[in-house]
Amino acid sequence: MRFDVLTLFPEFIESYCNFSIMKRAKEGEVFTLNTVNPRDFTEDKHKKVDDTPYGGGAGMVLMPQPFVDAYDSVEKLENSITVMLSPQGEPLTENLVLDLAKYDQIIMLCGHYEGFDERIREIIKPKELSIGDFVLTGGELPALCLIDSVSRKIDGTLGKIESAEDDSFSNGLLEYPQYTRPRDFRGYKVPEVLLNGNHKEINEFRNAAQIERTKQRRPDLYEKYLKDSI
Ligand code: SAM
Repeated sequence: MRFDVLTLFPEFIESYCNFSIMKRAKEGEVFTLNTVNPRDFTEDKHKKVDDTPYGGGAGMVLMPQPFVDAYDSVEKLENSITVMLSPQGEPLTENLVLDLAKYDQIIMLCGHYEGFDERIREIIKPKELSIGDFVLTGGELPALCLIDSVSRKIDGTLGKIESAEDDSFSNGLLEYPQYTRPRDFRGYKVPEVLLNGNHKEINEFRNAAQIERTKQRRPDLYEKYLKDSI
């Protein structure tokens, strides 16, 4: 997988990918990361990348020229998708992450300030993705959410120790509660069934806990789970 990120703050992206599992995945060439700063492409002598909105209003809008020229400079692989991080986009879900992991390249456009001049959308025609119904100051955190979640779906990122097999959403349910040592912490005990080594009982306990937890916390997922299991 190749990630190309257009961002005014490349250090944000590079820094996150230099820690923990992402660092190991990058060093193991599970993915390559390329950041491109539209500011390096501006034709303005003051290196301006934003300007006030036509029609008035608060904030600054990202100008089309630096972003479109920066985008044009990125080498495009055959099996490539371009994503604009935007609160107006399709909400990112685990299923969408699985689909995105099938590409060989994801090019990401990170906005800032008031967001993109509309012509950037019209010219590049990206898929717009949102990480939730809230507004952040920039697209860097959403891009990192995408890089991180997609990488976890690619062989070689997770070792056995970080397996995603039972993660929330993998079977349409939230994950069951997890415990580690000690058996008793401040009087709060690990459920007995997890200590008896009987894998059938453990699986039954976990499955029931998953269903109950999903029913309580995410009735929307629970309804879908019921429908899908008929
Ligand atoms: N004025 C824009 C609007 O109301 O739709 C919001 C702009 S936001 C302050 C600046 C940038 O942060 C956006 O262009 C986008 O790249 C990113 N961003 C903010 N919230 C986001 C979200 N929930 N999902 C994805 N990207 C987001």
